[in-house]
Amino acid sequence: MATYQEIRQMWADIGMDLEKHDEFLNSFPMVFKEILLSQQNRPQKMNYFSNVVKTVHGQRPYELYEFKQKGGKIFGTYCVYVPDEVLCALGAVTTGLCGGDEFWVPGGESVLPRNTCALIKSSLGSRLDRTSPFCQLADMYIGETTCDGKKKAWEILSQYKPMHIMDLPQMKRDQDVRRFAAEIWDLVKIAEDITGNKLTAENLSRSIRLINDKRRALQRLHSTRQASPVPISGKDALTVTQVAFYDDIQRFIDNTNVLCDELEERIARHEGVAPADAPRILVTGSPMALPNWKVHHLVESSGGAVVCEEMCTGTRYFENLVDETPTDLDGQILAIASRYMKTNCACFTTNSGRVDDIIRLVQDYRVDGVIDYALQFCGLYSIESHLVKAALQDRGIPFMHLETDYSPADSEQLQVRIQAFLEML
Ligand code: SF4
Ligand code: SF4
Repeated sequence: MATYQEIRQMWADIGMDLEKHDEFLNSFPMVFKEILLSQQNRPQKMNYFSNVVKTVHGQRPYELYEFKQKGGKIFGTYCVYVPDEVLCALGAVTTGLCGGDEFWVPGGESVLPRNTCALIKSSLGSRLDRTSPFCQLADMYIGETTCDGKKKAWEILSQYKPMHIMDLPQMKRDQDVRRFAAEIWDLVKIAEDITGNKLTAENLSRSIRLINDKRRALQRLHSTRQASPVPISGKDALTVTQVAFYDDIQRFIDNTNVLCDELEERIARHEGVAPADAPRILVTGSPMALPNWKVHHLVESSGGAVVCEEMCTGTRYFENLVDETPTDLDGQILAIASRYMKTNCACFTTNSGRVDDIIRLVQDYRVDGVIDYALQFCGLYSIESHLVKAALQDRGIPFMHLETDYSPADSEQLQVRIQAFLEML
């Protein structure tokens, strides 16, 4: 474990704004304690994940800092369509860079219109303010052509760091999958140049299995939430998924499986974190980057239990595995492209697969009501809400749409609406 002095020296070495970063650090423990640590009857094995979050700008960045000093390369990513498999196979580390904190929003607004979603503003703000060690440590950022806000944000970000943008198809026909495979090949060439390593069928096969293992661990964790009473809060399950974007992969797998052992023992004892009759909620929509626990906290402090997230910080991150059977690079890259193109982001047209996913998850997780969450100014998820609502109403599944941002300003008003929704269930 690095000492505080060593970590502070690292922050200075990688060019962070220490004064501004101290302001961030001063506000973070309060949110963390109030929202995560204050929960009753938390699984004991959540301690590992709490510690990762508590030291999120310290211990993990320090590991990456040491990795870089030995010549390692780091790729910062903003979307679940970036295939970690190829970067990991080349010996690089990937780390999520999406901002989930209100602290960074003003920094983003210094270059972006206010009517941009909080995730984009926060992500850019953390880089412009120089208050995220992950942004500072990355050798390259990888963006993608998903929503308009992100596409334009990459042009600004590229002024600060080498940036590669993957052209994500907007439809899911066979030719689109093949086109995405070609995009992955382009990424391979760039990453080979940066890392100095060569992609082989052997190193890619190992990395496909490793990242599938991460998905399998998350699948196991989330399946425990199908139990009633639910053995882990939505806030804690969301935190584990958020940590998956940053942590060392094997250590994350090991700790997630240890947590699952504890949760499965809880299920055997019929022990839960909420009463068995608490309304079970599925949250769907825009992603919730660390430390955005706002909606989960409002639901759970109003007596509901969040049992599933159909979002990129939820099922979309871990549901589909890459086929492990191809043994040559062409077959492996096509298998990776096929897996990623199964992810149902609202940037695709048509995107009926997402509605099918929500309906399936409602059944699997015995959901009483769906909260459809869109970040303000997220056109993709706000517009798609119309179709989600119609499909759920047709099946008699209670539905509530809400739009919000990272600020606590609307929390009271949202809590009133959420309480009314839960009472109706
Ligand atoms: S919601 Fe779409 S754009 Fe955002 S992280 Fe997920 S896949 Fe990427
Ligand atoms: S939440 Fe919506 S607007 Fe924001 S980055 Fe994701 S898809 Fe784009």
